Amino acid sequence: DSADFDREVESICPFCGVGCQISLKIKDDKVKYVEGINGPANEGRLCVKGRFGFDYIHHDHRLTKPLIRREDAPAKGLNVDPANWQEFFREATWDEALDFAAKGLMDIGGTGVAGFGSAKCTNEEAYLFQKMIRQGFGHNNVDHCTRLCHASSVAALMENVGSGAVTATFNEIENADVAIAIGCNPIENHPVAATYFKQFTKRGGKLIVMDPRGQALKRFSSHMLQFRPGTDVSMLNAIMHVIVEEELYDKQYIEAYTENWEAEKAHLKDFTPEKMAEVCGIDAETLRDVARTFAGANAAMIFWGMGVSQHIHGTDNSRCLISLALMTGQLGRSGAGLHPLRGQNNVQGASDAGLIPMFLPDYQSVMNDGVRSAFTDVWKSGDFSSEKGLTVTEIMDAVHDGDIKGMYVLGENPAMSDPDVEHARDALAKLEHLVVQDIFITETANYADVILPASAFAEKSGTVTNTNRQVQMGRPAVPPPGEAREDWWIEVELAKRLGLGWNYQSPADVFAEMKLNMKSLDNITWERLERENAVTYPSLSPEDPGQAIVFADGFPRPDGRARFTPASIIAPDDVPDAQYPMILTTGRQLEHWHTGSMTRRSKVLDGLEPEANCSLHPSTLRKLGVTAGEHVRLSTKRGSIEIMAREDRAVSPDMVFLPFAYVEAAANILTNPAVDPYGKIPEFKFSAVKVEAV
Ligand code: SF4
Repeated sequence: DSADFDREVESICPFCGVGCQISLKIKDDKVKYVEGINGPANEGRLCVKGRFGFDYIHHDHRLTKPLIRREDAPAKGLNVDPANWQEFFREATWDEALDFAAKGLMDIGGTGVAGFGSAKCTNEEAYLFQKMIRQGFGHNNVDHCTRLCHASSVAALMENVGSGAVTATFNEIENADVAIAIGCNPIENHPVAATYFKQFTKRGGKLIVMDPRGQALKRFSSHMLQFRPGTDVSMLNAIMHVIVEEELYDKQYIEAYTENWEAEKAHLKDFTPEKMAEVCGIDAETLRDVARTFAGANAAMIFWGMGVSQHIHGTDNSRCLISLALMTGQLGRSGAGLHPLRGQNNVQGASDAGLIPMFLPDYQSVMNDGVRSAFTDVWKSGDFSSEKGLTVTEIMDAVHDGDIKGMYVLGENPAMSDPDVEHARDALAKLEHLVVQDIFITETANYADVILPASAFAEKSGTVTNTNRQVQMGRPAVPPPGEAREDWWIEVELAKRLGLGWNYQSPADVFAEMKLNMKSLDNITWERLERENAVTYPSLSPEDPGQAIVFADGFPRPDGRARFTPASIIAPDDVPDAQYPMILTTGRQLEHWHTGSMTRRSKVLDGLEPEANCSLHPSTLRKLGVTAGEHVRLSTKRGSIEIMAREDRAVSPDMVFLPFAYVEAAANILTNPAVDPYGKIPEFKFSAVKVEAV
């Protein structure tokens, strides 16, 4: 009923990488409700987060003024709750807070300062953030949560197909007849994408689900491979072994578009399904059937998520998936392709915009002199380091080593999201100067010297890029509370105080500058996005809505050829033993988003899922003498938490599933910081754990 609102504004859902387009219904400068509109990724659909998860915007915990830590404040890291913040911080004017923030960073200077940007901010804000660290401090120690998400997938994709983005939109599943969904749980984590998966199966499409948890997609699957955690490479190599053995591969495609096939073929020889069945726990006949089903498809897609990427062998897992698509010629055609489902609403865009320590915007290497000078020409500044910068977890280690003393954290919450989080929290406490820019006093802000109050998605303009490579326009619908400001404005004001001479008047100015060195944005202008809401990159002309499928005629690699990179079995880092006999895996739940700072302040979402919980198999609960709803203690080599246990047949008897959104039972107290050597992504999906009744 239009009487319920006095304005409506079109924007983008702030949660997952699906990037649903929404209409915010506004009355008296408050969001009253949200509806889905006809975006290219959602066609009017929304999940429960997009539909009901907006009221955190108006929560009374919102930061409304800049805060500076009091000189007589208690120790850093103590919980600053909304009732007692005055004990820790005092209000400041913007000028005072910005001067203080900039001076603290400049006094440390150079490689002593690092930056964590955000996959929740806009493309323009991500671009400005990486520019500030590179231009202002002369190095590349700038990263964001892609490191904890798909960094290993991107490493494998860059290496083997020459581009880190998806090769086909998820909507292309409409044109497929077979699809693999591995290490992802789209019904909970990409719910609107999952609706397309369900439609695909209704039309007769075969969905092969591979996951150590028997997740909800199982009901729609033709094959459910509930393999042992951490054994992806053995299972995928066995499937590829069958394709080679039975000569089901696409010879013409391999000859025309790939390299290193003979090495891959030779490597796969040893991975017989019979041998690998003992490793991965899937019987040989099922592995053979899956190989024949996938290789026999007219058009097939592969989707994957954090279950693939968050391992010390995450890059190898993705290498296998890429090889599987290449050997069957399932790329560059309608209904065929590789699609790592992106987590955050703008993790694709923030990565594209250069918020990564090894790449400038558009994945151009910081080590390339020509690339750096193309950027410094535009920035009108001197050269910066040609060395790759430190990643999220390396930055925390460098703080412990005394090499990094100052940090600027924009919209990230490493005090909750980093593996072995006590190590990260200790690092934050050691910093001489921590600038936190956020909308709430997060767990990370508990350590801040200065807090800059920022804006929520519905309070600012800027573009974001979803999992489908669709660049979409976000619009301001309501004013930020009190003196909170748009993130790009805060970045510009801080940069001015760092002496960088920035003079952007709007996000549109920033976008115009981004286009100068980002070919991916060719034919995509701010005006066009204002008009059309979304354009997929690459877009081949000002009229082209963008290419849903890429690499029809070869790859952005030497000779246009994609590469097979063989992968061997590497055991998880922290294997179960007598003291820690079970396997812990962490992840998300439908109702909550990441570290919970937004969704746990949303009435409906918190109402639906109000309590920290973990999932255990009924037989495990029985053995422990625990009834569902009672508490258990989970302990790893890093620490212990107590948490309510749920009965869940989807997890195997030797496994615990633990969501990471709950501060009162923070999953990352338990997780292992060991990283994949290529993507530098931690092994969130596998830790040895002990479970006890309390
Ligand atoms: Fe938002 Fe993702 Fe849900 Fe769409 S599927 S409404 S983008 S959380």
